[in-house]
Amino acid sequence: MDFNPCMKHKLIRKTVRMFAEAELGPIAYEIDRDARLPMEVIEKMRPLNYFGLQAPKIYGGAEIDSISYAITIEELSRVCAAVGLCVSVHNSVGLYPIERFGTEAQKKQFIPKLASGEYIGAFCLTEANAGSDAGGVETSAVRMGNHFIINGTKIFVTNGGICDLALIFAVTDLKNPRESASVFIVEKNTPGFSVGEIEDLCGMRANPVSSLFLEDCRVPENHLLGKVGGGLRIGLVALDTGRIGVAAQALGIAQAAFEASVKYSKERQQFNRPISSFQTIQNYLADMATEIDAARLLVYRACDLKDSGQPFGTEAAMAKLYCGSMASRVTNLAVQIHGGYGYSKEYDVERYFRDAKVTEIYEGTSEVQRMVISRAVLTKLT
Ligand SMILES: Cc1cc2nc3c(=O)[nH]c(=O)nc-3n(C[C@H](O)[C@H](O)[C@H](O)COP(=O)(O)OP(=O)(O)OC[C@H]3O[C@@H](n4cnc5c(N)ncnc54)[C@H](O)[C@@H]3O)c2cc1C
Repeated sequence: MDFNPCMKHKLIRKTVRMFAEAELGPIAYEIDRDARLPMEVIEKMRPLNYFGLQAPKIYGGAEIDSISYAITIEELSRVCAAVGLCVSVHNSVGLYPIERFGTEAQKKQFIPKLASGEYIGAFCLTEANAGSDAGGVETSAVRMGNHFIINGTKIFVTNGGICDLALIFAVTDLKNPRESASVFIVEKNTPGFSVGEIEDLCGMRANPVSSLFLEDCRVPENHLLGKVGGGLRIGLVALDTGRIGVAAQALGIAQAAFEASVKYSKERQQFNRPISSFQTIQNYLADMATEIDAARLLVYRACDLKDSGQPFGTEAAMAKLYCGSMASRVTNLAVQIHGGYGYSKEYDVERYFRDAKVTEIYEGTSEVQRMVISRAVLTKLT
């Protein structure tokens, strides 16, 4: 077991950090305030393979390993979590399901466009009555000749406002919805597909999270991903990978909050001393550093298992559960260390605090992660 990062991982961290600090650092505050995804930066990210991080090289991807992927998401999120979210969702639950479950024709048709960033991907499971209960999907897909007619509304779609391709979960048998969930690859120019209002979010505000409407949307049958009724399995496999991405987002946000806190505590003077000289502040910093390190190891373990072809779903859920709650605790302490200034927009820590919270909610809430983990734990010990 080697705990030292290899040259490749050090280089990836350095490269992504330089890019993020140069391109996203100066605008992170403003794009959060204005709820604007910086398309000018997305444009620069396209040729650098940020949208095909783990996609096979034959389809134009960078085919990097999972730890490199996690480092990339962590470093983007350290500077701008909303862009980290865009890249994470696109790669892990937008592109990856096509790579894993697509036909050769689907891979050839869609992966090069996604990997190059010409298409931005979205993953559309959530509906008004289907949140944690993914089996509650009511969007319907009715076969008509060699097409499916899809009707329904998806909500809280990350990248929704800018997506070119959406993986839509829909049921083909309304009498038996839980057994008939299926996934359809829907391009934005398909008649009947439209984007709703962009959500006015608490955090991750620069990501255009929106609802999507499907009204008599005619999707060719060869855009069915996997088989009819195979949707739930595709969703679960995609979310296992997606959770590594969310854990890495949380890690990046926490790292940023920690670094800001160390800096501020050395600069801020009270009682004629820097606040870093007070033992309580030192204890906070020690707890933050320890939790971040522990979280990083959990993320890398899930990545390592994935890349060595072993089951990693439970470990990904553990990483996501721990990183999400860790990021909330760490960003909360960061605001505390900054005192009143931490509660003002003058300092970035209030943004980190808002961004961190949602990592405990999407791609399965912390309660859902505990269900996944406890199921595995109970099965192992019985
Ligand atoms: C910014 C943002 C981006 C998102 N992006 C996407 C996306 O790209 N694609 C997508 O499909 N969805 C997305 N979502 C939706 C997200 O995945 C859901 O919000 C999440 O799964 C929870 O569903 P819900 O909001 O309906 O909450 P609910 O399921 O209604 O849960 C409410 C509360 O009850 C708890 N709860 C529910 N069931 C149980 C249970 N059995 N046991 C214990 N507690 C339970 C939950 O943990 C939670 O605390 C996004 C959400 C946000 C906020």
